[in-house]
Amino acid sequence: MNQFTAMLGALKAPLDFLEHFDAQEALDAGLDRSTVKQWETIHNVYLAPTKWTRQQRHAAHAARSAEFTADKLWAIESRIKHITDEREKWQLRLKLLGIRGRCDTLKRKAAEIVPEKEKPKPKKTMGFGKTRDGMRPLTAMGTEKDMAALEYALRKRISSDGPAGPQMLETLMAMLGLRPDAETETTPSVAPAVPRPLVLIPLPDYLDIINGDGDETILGLSDGTTITGADYLAKYHGPDLEVAMFHPQEGAVNLYRTSRFANKKQRDLARASLSTCPVPDCRHASDNCEVHHITAWSRGGQTNMSNLAPLCRYHNRTNDDDPRNRHRGSIVNIRGRPVWQSPRGFTVDNKVHPFGAMTLLFGD
Ligand SMILES: [Zn+2]
Repeated sequence: MNQFTAMLGALKAPLDFLEHFDAQEALDAGLDRSTVKQWETIHNVYLAPTKWTRQQRHAAHAARSAEFTADKLWAIESRIKHITDEREKWQLRLKLLGIRGRCDTLKRKAAEIVPEKEKPKPKKTMGFGKTRDGMRPLTAMGTEKDMAALEYALRKRISSDGPAGPQMLETLMAMLGLRPDAETETTPSVAPAVPRPLVLIPLPDYLDIINGDGDETILGLSDGTTITGADYLAKYHGPDLEVAMFHPQEGAVNLYRTSRFANKKQRDLARASLSTCPVPDCRHASDNCEVHHITAWSRGGQTNMSNLAPLCRYHNRTNDDDPRNRHRGSIVNIRGRPVWQSPRGFTVDNKVHPFGAMTLLFGD
């Protein structure tokens, strides 16, 4: 018998070689974590102490006599994993151990025998993902009827010149008014409703750009996107450039303190001081953020710049407004910058989009 045949012989008797299973030993030998996990599961079902002794004895006997490999035993376990009733689980296991043939056959027949796992009901939602190479994904879940209507509308204008996907996206953009629409000869309609992002420029870069050396300079916008200095110069620089003033220690200058709600200038400055929500790893652009009172208005916090921070809807709701009650962390103002502080008092920066005005103008 050669080594290969010998190894197959061993693989056909997994309950023999798993008798003295030791996860750490297997990992140390260089086996993949998922293989070790599978072996551990098989060991626990067929060899570990259980109150289902009779079922375990029958199952182990069936597995041994039909020479079930570890792969096949794992196929059974992964198929019945969602069954919560232990008795039903043993019944199904024994039934599946009666199937003869290869692993594929076992999987196919198991799919017919074992009841499907109940999937959670889909809910209406829409979301935006992370930017990669200048592209950002959109996902949506709607009623079958609405989605069918949308698909019909988008497919209507597909030509046979290229793939359907990119064409449907362009049609959607035109329908939303984000592109000129050749079909209806309308000009963009949504654009005016989109908040005009502030361009955040640290002084040395600004000088480079104005001198025409800004090709390599990347600028952050308050909507969470970026442009090159050259693009900025070509598209945005002009007489109505908006200027936001930042003091190195105080941050955006204080302007108003009388109203509970931040006024437009304060909202603009708050979203300029950071380009995203300050909570670590949160990717929501400050343009889509709510303006948050660092010390709550109800606790005497004022509506002036040193007390305001852009915070996404979710983190504005989970922020610990009560300083005596720390669970989820809260926003503090450190040298003019809103920064997230953990419940135990550690401050952590959000590194998702490092283009907030304070960081740009005065460094970390
Ligand atoms: Zn957030």
